[in-house]
Amino acid sequence: MTENSDNDMAPPIVLFNTSMLKSSGKPKSIVWGNYIKQEKQISKGHWSVTCNYCNQFWYKGSPAALEEHLSNSCKNVPPDVHDLFLNRLTAKALEVGMSKSKKRKLGNQVQLSDFIESTKLTPEHIKDINRALVKAFVVCGIPFHIIENPFFIELLKTLCLAYEPSSNNIFSGRYLAQETAFANQMIIKKLNGSKNLTITCDGWSNSSNDSIWNFVIYTPDRCQYLWCLRNLSNEKHTQKLLAEEIANVLENIGPEKFSAVVMNLGANIKAACRIIAKQYPNILNLRCISHMVNLISRDICKTPFANRMLTRYNTVVSYFKRNYLADLTLKILAEENLVEGGGLKRWVDTRWHTMYDCVFSIIRHKVPLEIIHNRDNINVSVQSVLRTRAFFDDLYAIAFVLRPIKITISILESRNCSLSNCFVGLVRLEAAIKRLPENDYRSFRQ
Ligand SMILES: [Zn+2]
Repeated sequence: MTENSDNDMAPPIVLFNTSMLKSSGKPKSIVWGNYIKQEKQISKGHWSVTCNYCNQFWYKGSPAALEEHLSNSCKNVPPDVHDLFLNRLTAKALEVGMSKSKKRKLGNQVQLSDFIESTKLTPEHIKDINRALVKAFVVCGIPFHIIENPFFIELLKTLCLAYEPSSNNIFSGRYLAQETAFANQMIIKKLNGSKNLTITCDGWSNSSNDSIWNFVIYTPDRCQYLWCLRNLSNEKHTQKLLAEEIANVLENIGPEKFSAVVMNLGANIKAACRIIAKQYPNILNLRCISHMVNLISRDICKTPFANRMLTRYNTVVSYFKRNYLADLTLKILAEENLVEGGGLKRWVDTRWHTMYDCVFSIIRHKVPLEIIHNRDNINVSVQSVLRTRAFFDDLYAIAFVLRPIKITISILESRNCSLSNCFVGLVRLEAAIKRLPENDYRSFRQ
């Protein structure tokens, strides 16, 4: 089966795997003609097709895949068509559940099979398990191929002997599409009655090196909804393109419902936000404040003094991370000296506020490191760093300044913070810098 997809992902994420769908004996799908253009016949009952709205092409399109595209993935689909297919997809997923409740209404008599685990599961029970699995896989970030792993199948069999899991393709295709449609419908319902929404977007590279962008909507009651993911690998991320993508989302939901666009990225995205604010005067163009505070910690770490200290810090930490015998000795000494909070920490490049944890981890190990640095088997460069005059005092000065930033970022990332938290955090930072001794850290204070 071949399926050409540009991975154009407007309301969410899923592309269908058409090989799993039955095509025989069903009435002609409503997708043909008005919504999807049939082109060349590939084989009996199979056509190459193009979406009338976004021009996405499928070498061999199936009605189910195309309906799923129109309800979950098409970026240019008009709202009424989108609603139509979204309702169809969720109705299909609900069919079994409905028949189950109808049956219950018809006969109140309790079946013996309700109590004894049957060797054959009812379709509604299978559907419930499938839905629960899809949700667990997505929310816990478990790759879908795990469903075919013999150990995972054994686990499922232990929990429910009669359950036969479907293939990876069906899970990541049909079932995921149905769950996505459910989620989309709920999000649309929630956003329909909302006002003062905020939109934000961010981009990253996935494991296949595709450039994925998310568009997230925040409501005034601090709920956040992933509106869509877009694969922009084949496009240049110009301000014009990004502004179009944001405008697309705004138009889908209703631009009048929004009051702010918040971004934290480079020049192109800032320029895109300016275009949006100009195009929609009701939408304020704001910067992400926790990102700004994060940038302050990066600026602090860039100062010559902090930079020099962090290079020395790196020499020490890298040595202990590489040399397991030295690391073991350090761990034993740390235990003997009641050092708490774990071993030496490395920092995460993209999260500068972790710098405080790293610096503080070495301060916590001051006693064991002072004992260890005189031993012959320790690397010479590590010894010379640890013997540098006032090495720990200087690290303490950096940690002292970085601490308020770390606290401020943790508060800003929490769900119930307000701008006053940010203000107080910045005041604390200023106070910390002012309290550094003037003579020793003059250049650092500046
Ligand atoms: Zn389309």
